[in-house]
Amino acid sequence: MSGLNPIDYGIINGRVIYNVTPMPHIPGAEAVGVVMKDHGTFREGDRVIIYNRVYDGTCPKCLGGNEHLCINGGIWSVVSNGGYSEMVSVKAVNLFPIPKGISNEVAVSLPVGALTAYRALKRASSGAGKKLLVYGASGNTGIFLTQLGNIMGMEVYGVTRKTWTRDFGAHTIYDAENIPSDFKADIVVNSIGSGFWNSAMSHLDISGTLVTFGVQTGKEATIDISQIYSREYSIVGSTGGTRKDFHEVMEIAEKFKLKVRVSDRFQLGDYARALKRYEEIRDGRVILLNNR
Ligand SMILES: [Zn+2]
Repeated sequence: MSGLNPIDYGIINGRVIYNVTPMPHIPGAEAVGVVMKDHGTFREGDRVIIYNRVYDGTCPKCLGGNEHLCINGGIWSVVSNGGYSEMVSVKAVNLFPIPKGISNEVAVSLPVGALTAYRALKRASSGAGKKLLVYGASGNTGIFLTQLGNIMGMEVYGVTRKTWTRDFGAHTIYDAENIPSDFKADIVVNSIGSGFWNSAMSHLDISGTLVTFGVQTGKEATIDISQIYSREYSIVGSTGGTRKDFHEVMEIAEKFKLKVRVSDRFQLGDYARALKRYEEIRDGRVILLNNR
């Protein structure tokens, strides 16, 4: 099973900030499946999920515990073929067993959506009692930012037109155009790029933190430098997460029963339609099944 996500969509549409290899290319940054052959502690038939970073384990970033920033690595499915495939071959260090309490549809949403959300919140010095404003709250990462923000004891405000985001624990939902001008949050997550940059900055409270990790609406923005220092803002970038982060996300997913909303399921061979659906409607996740 695979899930459609912004990484795959960017690759397919030639909108990438990374070098894609090999060509022709199989995308698919999120994949769960079963082990086909015993290896190490893995047994044939085990349900597993792929930690989607390729890393060498020897560079300064890896040795510092940040293998997701490996100098010689990259995102599995970008610097290698990915999971839109019946069978894949990956290193055992990239495989994690899926705990019994986690469904495949939740599991397949953990390596991109949940992991990115989790690390972003960690890097933003999240904490109980803080106000968190999430742009794109109904998106792949948004639904996890909302759930994880709640678990961390924060009051979560979502920016989206989808009222179902409330089911994921949003305290209040705003249309982008209707956020009260005096509303301020301690942490603002803008994962959708420059189209919402000014709005995001305008709702950041004094000494607040803005977190960013996506450029769906553009990657260039203008910054008022005086605001950054006079209000002591922090601007933090985040990308994916470490294996430790991933392990923690898995524990949280099981303990707090993280959930996803799936709008459509397609067979792998039908992924042109799946992509079209992903493009047209953002009303939950689009999943690719591999029922051989
Ligand atoms: Zn490395």
